[in-house]
Amino acid sequence: YSTQHEVARRSLDNSIRELYFYTLNQLEKHKDKEPVNAFYNHTLNQMLSLLAESSNFGSTVDNSGEWHQQALQNLSSFIQNRIKILQNPEDCAKARILLCDLNKGCGFGCQLHHVAYCLIVAAGTNRTMVFEKDGTDWRYSQKGWTSVFLPVTSCSHSAAVPANTNVQSWAGVEQTDRVVRLPIVDGLSHHPEHLPLSFPKQISEFLLAHHSNPPVYFIAHFIWYLMRNNEHMEKVLKEAEQKIPFGEGPIVGLQIRRTDKIGTEASFHSVPEYMKWAEHWFRIQEYRNNGTAIKRRVFIATDDPNAVKEAKEGYPNYEVFADTGIAQTAQVNSRYTDASLYGVITDIQMLSKCDYLVCTFSSQVCRVGFELMQVLKGDAGDLFHSLDDIYYYGGQLAHDEIAVEAYKAEKPDEIDLEVGDSVGIAGNHWDGFSKGQNRRTGKTGLYPSYKTREKWRIVNFGIFSSWNS
Ligand code: GDP
Repeated sequence: YSTQHEVARRSLDNSIRELYFYTLNQLEKHKDKEPVNAFYNHTLNQMLSLLAESSNFGSTVDNSGEWHQQALQNLSSFIQNRIKILQNPEDCAKARILLCDLNKGCGFGCQLHHVAYCLIVAAGTNRTMVFEKDGTDWRYSQKGWTSVFLPVTSCSHSAAVPANTNVQSWAGVEQTDRVVRLPIVDGLSHHPEHLPLSFPKQISEFLLAHHSNPPVYFIAHFIWYLMRNNEHMEKVLKEAEQKIPFGEGPIVGLQIRRTDKIGTEASFHSVPEYMKWAEHWFRIQEYRNNGTAIKRRVFIATDDPNAVKEAKEGYPNYEVFADTGIAQTAQVNSRYTDASLYGVITDIQMLSKCDYLVCTFSSQVCRVGFELMQVLKGDAGDLFHSLDDIYYYGGQLAHDEIAVEAYKAEKPDEIDLEVGDSVGIAGNHWDGFSKGQNRRTGKTGLYPSYKTREKWRIVNFGIFSSWNS
């Protein structure tokens, strides 16, 4: 394979998508007036058809989709195995240990991202990650982590950290102390270069050839390892899954996050805002399918039951599925109920089984679903539409892009770019423009998204030293 060829193909696909965002946004402002309406309809059809062709180019043409998926599956097994070896050392009392406190004061998705951060640092520094108190002190379940998931390590806290062990605070990757306690990322000093959105040098060429978003693919494997259901949880999931016709045609997953998030960490988005992107995606699939009609199906994960009702009433041509679990955003007596824990795990895992996601990436619930999707589906890096943020990981190192074309600001809120400039990206406005800070000029503002490419963070990860692509 040629990494260069695949990178160029993805870059073209991305530029087409940015043109679609730009055109759509411009035309939507005037689409109710003729002659713009006819022009809008025609252009939208052509854009969706173009996106379908581009998508085929990376999937059905030469069976490249299967080829990518197979390659990524092999890599997935390799990564899972490396994590397993790391987490199951021969002698817990001699192994290098990274202590992690499961109980970060936040929601399930946030806690999971916190634990995955511990595991990523553990993998970067060749340490076995062990939970403080073996993960029994957990606000999501009195019975602890193993009430729903498999144990993260074969080392109990007492075996890995016997009484009188010298436990040191985190002091950076070079630290030689056997047992180290990692703080939450918000209070971290000596940031290791392994933090997201970094990915291992040892597998970077291979990943860039096969995946459109290597950092997400890589992070996904830590989440996947952590979210291995125990027998009971697997049963709960299977029961919920049976009610949704996975495998009988495509399903778009919508995650509609409302209640306590609105006005504090995110804005309100109406059901039609989500459905618009689902509908476009189905139309693209119909173009890919030589025009054969595709049954419209959505799965909705939400903390607001009204969203499900609204979708059912407003979209009679859609089959709307939802898990009836309890979405509990607040704790009662400092705990969540079991049903609420099962509900959020089920929703996340079902989202990951969908063929496309529409959600707000400001929600960790949706980001976890998107992450797991990468392990299940191979290159699913573009199978989403976020109504707000671009993909990010809490506590990530600076996310930079590189300008590949120059730009002269046309409006006061825009910034200049020169070829080669690094831009710290804050967000994509999904209208053809992104917002960021030009590191050379120090200015923050909008610039056309198609003029930049990702500046990947590629670093050495000790546990991948024996990978041979
Ligand atoms: P965020 O606040 O959306 O970024 O995600 P967190 O996981 O950190 O906290 C939100 C909490 O609200 C979750 O852990 C769940 O308890 C609940 N919640 C939010 N969205 C959903 C959903 O779609 N389904 C279910 N079952 N629960 C949700």
